[in-house]
Amino acid sequence: MLLSACLRRCARLLYWIPVTIVIMVVMWSYYAYVVPFCWILLSSSTQKVVFLCLFHVCFVMFSWSFWKTLSTPPSSPSVEFQLSSSDSLLYEQERGDMEKSPILLEISQKLSVHTRTAAGAIRFCHHCQLIKPDRCHHCSVCQMCVLKMDHHCPWLNNCIGFSNYKFFLLFLLYSLLYCLLIVATVTPTFIQLWLGKQFDSCVKLHVLFLTLVSAMFAVTLCFLLFFHIWLLASNKTTLEWLSVPFFVDGPASEAFDVGVRANLSQVFGKNKSLWPFPVFSSQGDGQSFPLRWQMSSYSPSVMNGNGHRAMEGSVVSPEGVSVTIAVDD
Ligand SMILES: [Zn+2]
Ligand SMILES: [Zn+2]
Repeated sequence: MLLSACLRRCARLLYWIPVTIVIMVVMWSYYAYVVPFCWILLSSSTQKVVFLCLFHVCFVMFSWSFWKTLSTPPSSPSVEFQLSSSDSLLYEQERGDMEKSPILLEISQKLSVHTRTAAGAIRFCHHCQLIKPDRCHHCSVCQMCVLKMDHHCPWLNNCIGFSNYKFFLLFLLYSLLYCLLIVATVTPTFIQLWLGKQFDSCVKLHVLFLTLVSAMFAVTLCFLLFFHIWLLASNKTTLEWLSVPFFVDGPASEAFDVGVRANLSQVFGKNKSLWPFPVFSSQGDGQSFPLRWQMSSYSPSVMNGNGHRAMEGSVVSPEGVSVTIAVDD
C-alpha cells in the first residue's frame, strides 16, 4: 500500500520532467539571444534596441500564454452529471449492464446529452461515477473527466480542454512567432560566422545552436499550429478527429461545426479585443454545444450526407427514444 503510494508519487514527479526541459530550453534561448547575440555580437545600437524590443514583446506573450495553459486546471462536469447517492446505490444493486441502463437513461433525460457510445449507449464514467457531457472524456493521467477534452499534453503536464484551449492556441502562435523572430534576426550573423568558420568561442556557439534549435522548433510548431487552426475552423477536438463522435442516429464527424465564424467565437469569444490575450473568453459552459443540425442555416440535404434524419431548424435525435443503454469506460 505504502509502496504503491510512493510509486504513484514518483510517477507524478516524472510527469514534470518534460515541462522542466521546456522551461530550461526557453531560459537558455532567452540568455543566448539577449547576451551573446544582442549584447556581444551586434555592433549597431539601433539594431540592438529594435531587436530587443521585438524579442521582449514576443517573449512576454509567449511566457504568459505558456503559463496560463500550464496552470489552468481542466474543468470537470457539474454535479448534475454526477450520480446522486440514491442513484449510485440503486446502480450498484443492479446486476448487468442492461439492467443498469434504465437508471442512466432516466438521469440523462434531464440533461442535455446528445453523444453516445459506438453501441448507442449513454456515455458513463466508472471512475468518476458520472454521465459524460458531450465532448467530455476521462483523462487517465489527470484522473478526472475533462470538459471538451482535446488531448493530454505531456510537455505542459496538463489536459488541454474547454478551460484552456484558447490559451493553448495562443501558446502555439506566440511560440512560433518567438522562434521565427529569432531565426529572422540571428540568421544573417549566423551566415557570416558560418562562412568565416568563426565558431571558435562559446558566444558564437550559442548563436549557432540558437539558430538551429529555433529553426527546428519553428518547423514543428508551424505544422502543429496549422493543424489546430483547421480543428478550430471545423470545431473538432483532436480526440474527435481521431475518433468520430456517435449520436443516436450514428456517427457524425461534423456535428459541432456551426460555421467558421461561430466556431471561432466559441473558443475566442465575442469580444475581439480579448482574442490576442490569454484571458478566458470562451463561450458556453463546456457541457453543452450547439449541434449543426440545430442551426436553421443548414438544410436537410446537408445533414443527409451524415446519415441524420435532419429537419431544417429543428432538433433531431430526440433523446431516450430507441436508445440502447450500456456503459462505456
Ligand atoms: Zn471520469
Ligand atoms: Zn489529462
